[in-house]
Amino acid sequence: MTTQVLVSEVGPRDGLQSIQAVMPLEAKKAWIAAEAAAGVTEIEVGSFVPAKLLPQLADTAEVVAYARTIPGLTVAVLVPNLKGAAAAVAAGVHKITIPLSASETHSLKNVRRTHAQMLDEVRGIVALLRSLPAERRPKFEGGLSTAFGCTLEGEVPADRVVQLAGQLMEAGCDEVGLSDTTGYANPAQVKALVRRVRAVVGDHALSGLHLHNTRGLGLANVLAGLEVGISTFDSSLGGLGGCPFAPGASGNIVTEDLVFMLEAMGIGTGIDLARLLEVRHILRDALPGEAIYGFTPEAGLPLGFRSATHAETAA
Ligand code: ZN
Repeated sequence: MTTQVLVSEVGPRDGLQSIQAVMPLEAKKAWIAAEAAAGVTEIEVGSFVPAKLLPQLADTAEVVAYARTIPGLTVAVLVPNLKGAAAAVAAGVHKITIPLSASETHSLKNVRRTHAQMLDEVRGIVALLRSLPAERRPKFEGGLSTAFGCTLEGEVPADRVVQLAGQLMEAGCDEVGLSDTTGYANPAQVKALVRRVRAVVGDHALSGLHLHNTRGLGLANVLAGLEVGISTFDSSLGGLGGCPFAPGASGNIVTEDLVFMLEAMGIGTGIDLARLLEVRHILRDALPGEAIYGFTPEAGLPLGFRSATHAETAA
């Protein structure tokens, strides 16, 4: 099992797009700066979508401009199409992810595009990226959403996910990721699907999972991912955004709980958990009344808790 894991914070994009309230730009900056100061090295800071669709993320270009000034931080964004990718490049992001829903019904409903149309979009983005000098070229990931099941189609055949992963790599993505958008995944399925996709794209091209805690299996699924060599996990501070299908449950797995589990297991994240817990105050102040989740923050750290990261620092 891996001894180092990259925790990729997606709250400023995934969390904020799921709530009605619009977080002020200054609070977003404070949040990102505080997480980076706690040791988080990759943050998905927004999405380049039309402001009328997602007013919560309308200031993404400004957030990116700020986040780029933080040394050592990988600034990631989501884009739905070539236009968004061009805006992301202009803003100077380090990483771009385009979501492709493994369920075509979901894709048609969400972005009104078939799989073939989305793959054309991916090829257009690849052409744009390849026209850039290497040092200005962001990393490009194809994120397979609804990879473990879909609220519209139900079961999504693994064959379909494997095929789409291969097509994303053929189209020129640097890597693919698997997303449990609907919280349908279970640990056995996580292991089986990661193995099958890796058999087609190679181990290096699938390093990350985006898991949800809709049915309480978020961290169990992380453990399953760790056991098959996954080294990057997305999560959201305070599980911000909640889950539309299961009121009372976080949607994204909670960053604080994820970091606790990993560090307690001796897997280094580079994150100072005590400092990370403090960042919740920024969310509470900027988003009054919004539900914020997490078991570790409520219970506190165990007496005598020693994190893997601190043990390394001390050594
Ligand atoms: Zn999510």
